[in-house]
Amino acid sequence: MIDLTITDALEKLKSRKISATELTRAHLERIEKYGADLNCYITTTPERALSDAAAADARYAAGNPLPLDGIPIAMKDLFATRNIRTTAASHMLENFVPQYESTVSQKFIDAGTVLLGKTNLDEFAMGTFSKTSYFGAPINPWQMERKLTAGGSSGGTTSAVASGLAMGGTGTDTGGSIRFPASITGLVGMKPTYGLCSRWGCVAFASSLDTPGPIARTVDDAALLLSAMAGHDDKDSTSADAEFHAHTPLSPILGDGKKLRIGIIKEFADVEISPDMKRIFDARIADLKSLGADVVEVSIPNVLDALAAYYIIAPAEASSNLARYDGMRYGLRVDGADLIDTYKKTRAAGFGTEVQRRMIIGTAVLSSESYEVYFMQAARVRRLIADAFDRAFARCDLIVCPAGAGTALPLNSDLSPLEYYALDLFTVAMNLAGIPACSVPAGLAENGLPLGVQVVGRRFDDMHVMQLAKHIEQFAAVDNRPTKIMGK
Ligand code: GLN
Repeated sequence: MIDLTITDALEKLKSRKISATELTRAHLERIEKYGADLNCYITTTPERALSDAAAADARYAAGNPLPLDGIPIAMKDLFATRNIRTTAASHMLENFVPQYESTVSQKFIDAGTVLLGKTNLDEFAMGTFSKTSYFGAPINPWQMERKLTAGGSSGGTTSAVASGLAMGGTGTDTGGSIRFPASITGLVGMKPTYGLCSRWGCVAFASSLDTPGPIARTVDDAALLLSAMAGHDDKDSTSADAEFHAHTPLSPILGDGKKLRIGIIKEFADVEISPDMKRIFDARIADLKSLGADVVEVSIPNVLDALAAYYIIAPAEASSNLARYDGMRYGLRVDGADLIDTYKKTRAAGFGTEVQRRMIIGTAVLSSESYEVYFMQAARVRRLIADAFDRAFARCDLIVCPAGAGTALPLNSDLSPLEYYALDLFTVAMNLAGIPACSVPAGLAENGLPLGVQVVGRRFDDMHVMQLAKHIEQFAAVDNRPTKIMGK
């Protein structure tokens, strides 16, 4: 049952060949067996899962199931869940139990899903290997004995989904946190258009960039999850007036003489990527051409400056968002001699090194001396990048580019903060522009590990992005069945 896709499982649930309770138990058993080693869940919710499953079975019996009824999912521990601890992988929120439900997790309840637990991540989603988590890093189930990273910041969800400890799950992508972890775990990670999924009740990192989205084993599964997550929300001031409804299997966007112009970003050609990525990327482009796609070169002149702009804008917004953790209202509190001392002691004890680094950078770039030279300059670069994507999409319908430079690295790799930041080179520009981008398994490297490429589209062209991703998925035919990856 572990190897079923969501699409297959829904079919079997509808025809009553399996029950939601059986499906849930199979996942709970697996969590019991591998959860601790993989360290992918911060909190598991087995009782809640079984009661969700029983409710789903009752709806199937009554003949009126919900769209994702009985599908066991994992929720990134950044989404507030009522009466279930929500930590953001921080000591600051280690014991925080929200009294409210985030819009995204509520939508999953409304769709009938079964909540297995809350997954590990980088502290406040700041990182690339999920190593900044207060709870330790999750592990990639591919070549598990090597202790490779499952990516970050949504590395708990990718670890869980790739290993069959959930059928799918949620991530958030501020600068690549859905796409990068998906690319190195053989999964599909979709960063929707900014504003398509509500941020309400999702612990804030950088509000103008934060984008909730799905992580799953197939493009169709990701499309089903996104259908449940998306939609306007009055509680989020930047929520778009848009919806997403997928009917699976997604229909082909290529073949039968269909015309499609695929753009390749010229400036990315100068970036060093692994020979495997180069080979796989070229092979998939050749495949798309064989189906009749026209490939054109497009230019995003400032795309390599996206990293610098992102690492000014994201920390600036984070420093403001994280000011709320002062020990007064909720979260950790370490009493000091007076109010200011309490603030200092609480924040020094509650935040890890990377989060502190971001707040210091953010506060510095927003200071009156630096605002014009750093923050405003970064905002201008952001505008140039967004405009360049608009111009590029006048010449092509969709863009295809690598999701990262290579395969998963060992968790104990000794990288400097700047080396970690550089790993986001292929992903941050899409966040700055607010456009949809989907990482899809594109092939296996010589070392047997998966590599992903991204499909990028115009704002609100999420459906076409996923349709093209599906073609790539079919050509690549990466076998990412959990029982195969883990050999059990
Ligand atoms: N790796 C990036 C960072 O550290 C992206 C994180 C994210 O998308 N949440 O900021």
